[in-house]
Amino acid sequence: IFITLEGPDGSGKSTQVENIRAYFVSNGREVVVSREPGGTSISEKLRSIVLDNANAEMDDVTEMLIYAAARAQHVAEKIRPALEGGAVVVCDRFVDSSIAYQGFGRNLGDQVSEVNRYATGGLEPDVTFFMDLDPEIGRARIGKDVRDRLEQQKLDFHYRVYDGYKALCDKYPERIVRIDASKTIDEIKGDIYSKLETL
Ligand code: C5P
Repeated sequence: IFITLEGPDGSGKSTQVENIRAYFVSNGREVVVSREPGGTSISEKLRSIVLDNANAEMDDVTEMLIYAAARAQHVAEKIRPALEGGAVVVCDRFVDSSIAYQGFGRNLGDQVSEVNRYATGGLEPDVTFFMDLDPEIGRARIGKDVRDRLEQQKLDFHYRVYDGYKALCDKYPERIVRIDASKTIDEIKGDIYSKLETL
């Protein structure tokens, strides 16, 4: 089973990744947890390039291709072998992030899906939890210490990203489960667990 989490910065994805891990571990399943951009040695190097504040001059297409390159390595080296070995893979961000951030945020459009279909060899998650939170609230949760090149984007960028996620929810209602991320951590865990029960 391949599960991904998506949503704006500050929406609580990493906390719920750990809850999902705990759920499957308690059911005796092998679980591989990962994140994007990153997840392998090469992909983490690409992550540091793409998120480096010093790389302010990075072209939008370059950015999109670095995310896709990091993902190709991640899928080939880690995700696909884990799935083939029977593990549950839980990943913090995947292709939907690229569609939302680079496709909608950077206005790169449909090419993002095509490039990523190539990068992943067509691998798609079985279930995606979209942590639905207003970007302004997410930003307030992160606090003033904005950390990386993407988090520094103006709020209108983050609203375009959010619109991208909502479009994805409409397009893939079977795969994407919308979670109200303004609830408490325990309430969100309960909402996610009730979906996991059905798998
Ligand atoms: O989720 P995480 O905080 O690790 O993401 C790192 C940064 O990369 C965030 O600022 C996120 O908004 C950004 N990002 C992006 N495009 C992607 C994936 C992540 O701009 N495809």
